[in-house]
Amino acid sequence: MREQVFDNRRSWIEIDLQSLRYNVQQILTQLQSKDQLMAVVKSDAYGHGAVKISQELNKMGIYSFAVATLSEGIELRKNGVIGQILILGYTDPYYARMIQEYDLTQTVIDYQYALSLQQQNIPICVHIALDTGMHRLGEMTHNLSQIKNIFQFSSLHITGMFSHLCVCDETTNESQNYTLSQIQYFCHTVNQLKKEGYNVGKVHLLSSYGFIYYPHYQLDYVRMGILLYGVDSSFPKQMKLSLKPVLSLKSKIALIKKVSQNQTIGYGRTYTTTQCMKIAVVPIGYADGLPRSLSNVGKVIVKGQFAPIVGRICMDQMMIDVTHIHHVERGDIVTIIGEDHVYQGVETIAKQSCTISNEILSQLGFRLPKIYINEMQNITKIKSI
Ligand SMILES: *Cc1c(COP(=O)(O)O)cnc(C)c1O
Repeated sequence: MREQVFDNRRSWIEIDLQSLRYNVQQILTQLQSKDQLMAVVKSDAYGHGAVKISQELNKMGIYSFAVATLSEGIELRKNGVIGQILILGYTDPYYARMIQEYDLTQTVIDYQYALSLQQQNIPICVHIALDTGMHRLGEMTHNLSQIKNIFQFSSLHITGMFSHLCVCDETTNESQNYTLSQIQYFCHTVNQLKKEGYNVGKVHLLSSYGFIYYPHYQLDYVRMGILLYGVDSSFPKQMKLSLKPVLSLKSKIALIKKVSQNQTIGYGRTYTTTQCMKIAVVPIGYADGLPRSLSNVGKVIVKGQFAPIVGRICMDQMMIDVTHIHHVERGDIVTIIGEDHVYQGVETIAKQSCTISNEILSQLGFRLPKIYINEMQNITKIKSI
């Protein structure tokens, strides 16, 4: 990880930990207990900073985490995060030693993988993934005998079993039926194993949208990602849950210039001024994670007013039209995601660039410093390892 200097003079991500705590409390009202919440903090907690987010959650009494990769898990442990950390993705069996050393829990992605892990002969905790119809990771539920064989591997301590739903965010009949069939395959397999005396450990099935639409199947854990961060694009009204966005993306105007009519702006000359215009240069670009497809489409907020992005977004900078905004000057704050009298959510940015909020968030921040506000005071400092 690159060292990030505190630098809010260019562009930055602001993380409001009070909003995170608010979201957790909201979500907990719908769960039996804190232990049911497995916080998904992969991809640097969707761009929010996995270490800080996990530490804050630890302070709130949340002790289950999910990451995508081994190194994400190690990063959390090295920063004193305590509790269970499940690696949802593939880890080369060669690294079994590190899984053990950092007390991580590895997902068994199929029988063959379990066999390779077993051959490392290093005792580790695992959750078995079942493929109930997404056809990504997981042993197929109809291979029940293969699943049972995994239980015979002496170096694999099976502490859980889970599956993942692939259309649980869609409300068409077809998607609902598909999801219900996935749920059925999962429950059936788990019940069959239990009946035959296998200890499957903790079982889990739902991610954020499963939690919203299929609350009956919360089981032992709900794997909560995007909702923790207060981002939701399709929220059903019947769910009494209000969430607050945790992340804001901000920059500061570097330069303002007057450009006369019929001049073009930026690379490829894709925007032509329609009058004498006031153009501001903003020091943030696609290398900071702002999608280039927002060129001539997206907007930002300056002094409580929307200002359109004009011309192509460059690698490190972009131009905006501030003709209509009075008294605008160098150093004025530009809000790309967040609130400044008016509000723009990541959902809008995602829609305008034809993708989902998760993708936008997870691309942010390789170069942007993160500034954390409203951190909970450490009441008791707990250190592990
Ligand atoms: C990413 C992921 C999640 C979290 O998904 P959200 O929709 O962000 O809640 C849960 N489970 C698995 C297996 C994942 O890969």
